[in-house]
Amino acid sequence: MARELLTARLEKKVCISQVAQCYHFEFVVEGVESFPFASGQFISAVAEDPNGKQQTRAYSIASAARESRFDLCVNRVEGGFFSNHLADLTDLEPGATIQIHGPHGHFILQETVTDSILLATGTGIAPMRGFTQWLFPENGPDRSNGKDIWLIYGTRHETDVYYQDEFEALARRKPNFHYLPTLSRALPDWTGLRGYVQDHASKIVEERAARLGIPLPQPPVDPATPKADLNFDIYCYICGLNFMVSAARERLAGYGWHRKQIVFERYD
Ligand SMILES: Cc1cc2nc3c(=O)[nH]c(=O)nc-3n(C[C@H](O)[C@H](O)[C@H](O)COP(=O)(O)OP(=O)(O)OC[C@H]3O[C@@H](n4cnc5c(N)ncnc54)[C@H](O)[C@@H]3O)c2cc1C
Repeated sequence: MARELLTARLEKKVCISQVAQCYHFEFVVEGVESFPFASGQFISAVAEDPNGKQQTRAYSIASAARESRFDLCVNRVEGGFFSNHLADLTDLEPGATIQIHGPHGHFILQETVTDSILLATGTGIAPMRGFTQWLFPENGPDRSNGKDIWLIYGTRHETDVYYQDEFEALARRKPNFHYLPTLSRALPDWTGLRGYVQDHASKIVEERAARLGIPLPQPPVDPATPKADLNFDIYCYICGLNFMVSAARERLAGYGWHRKQIVFERYD
């Protein structure tokens, strides 16, 4: 069945890392009053490649819903068609548009907000920005219920810490939001965290368990438990390339975490 295609007009484009060739985009969906979605969902972008073949790629929405607008965060993939098509769009003249359908996807927060670990690498930060904008709106009531929200963001170099200023400002504004960027190839003058996201997630899980007196590994959940009764007091949301997602899931499973406690989106 053909999906309804919407036209989204580019309003703003900012290069947020020259080195990684990563761009922040702001689009407005034309002809609608609102473009509703749950933070964490993605849109499918559609365009013809140079051979006239229709190509479709998924891109996580990097913002919370606001009227008919949505943001994307996309980096160029060498030799790739769609990422370069987007990165070559220009906002200098009004009118650049893309065709999209959606929103799609189940990478969304639990309905009742719990303590949450958000784990991302690279442009996997996109849905996390959507989550944090929804949890901690600048104009409007806080939706975090006072729960601890840890954002662990991993990348190689300091030049690729996307949206760092925004997340640092949020951490200053909200004491229950903990921003932990970590570099795997930091220069000697980097004073922040080093190493892989899953190692820092481990630290949080272990310290929290010790603080709350939770034994680790946690005892397994009775397999007969109905799905609707599977409620946990902490969830982890993971987004990025498969090797990181798999490593992080394995790490959490080692603590006895139930698979439903680990919500993930893989980009490859
Ligand atoms: C649910 C979902 C959400 C996504 N959200 C985002 C997002 O917010 N931002 C974003 O930049 N990308 C995102 N992606 C990835 C995106 O859909 C494309 O795969 C990516 O832009 C590359 O497309 P391309 O047409 O340029 O490359 P292609 O022509 O599809 O591929 C070219 C080559 O690059 C490899 N490749 C494909 N994807 C990647 C990648 N992500 N990193 C490194 N190598 C890759 C391929 O294996 C191939 O060898 C998402 C993917 C999914 C499934």
